[in-house]
Amino acid sequence: MAATTKPVSAQRAPALSVLDDPRWARIVARDKTADGNLWYCVSTTGIYCRPSCPSRTANPKNVTLHDTLESAKATGFRPCKRCNPDGRSLESENAALVAKACRIIEESEEEPPLQELAEAVGRSPGYFHRMFKAVTGLTPKDYAAADRAKKVREGLETGNSVTEAIYDAGFNSSGRFYEKSTGMLGMTPTQYRAGGANEEIKFAVGQTSLGDPRRVQHEGRRLYSAR
Ligand SMILES: [Zn+2]
Repeated sequence: MAATTKPVSAQRAPALSVLDDPRWARIVARDKTADGNLWYCVSTTGIYCRPSCPSRTANPKNVTLHDTLESAKATGFRPCKRCNPDGRSLESENAALVAKACRIIEESEEEPPLQELAEAVGRSPGYFHRMFKAVTGLTPKDYAAADRAKKVREGLETGNSVTEAIYDAGFNSSGRFYEKSTGMLGMTPTQYRAGGANEEIKFAVGQTSLGDPRRVQHEGRRLYSAR
């Protein structure tokens, strides 16, 4: 009987060392928190990856694990193009680009066109739009509108004249602002100054987590780490 049993388990025997290694479980789970602390080489493809690499999970018998980037590089393998194991992760790179775009929006007199924002961070408009939404939960246009509403509110609350508040927020003609102000403030700026600020005001664009780019960056990181 025993002589006819196929030696199925024999094929797996050489992989036991990697399979039993707790670090391998983090790679299987594409654990982002392991990025920067662990790399793995795949002998069949000749590349090395970070743990969160989206590529198909490699066969563990072809994998070697490395606790330092230097050790992974020393194998002579090439860095994976998908997960960029030598640099920052795609997520943290995107979060940094989005934070940069937020600052451009906040510092612009006029709302920057999508094309211009995308060019400023070196991405296509479509990719940039998706990336911005993934990090902030808003479109760039919504963000720009919310940023202006916030500036007008701050201007009015610190006692600036209505005209000053409008110009400080980047509206180059008060006519354009008045067209939009009811939506942004829930009333006209003069009504707002006259006491509306003490009432329950529903801002059309919402006043959630906007305004501070550091907050947006933080929010982005939180979103990513929650995935
Ligand atoms: Zn990779």
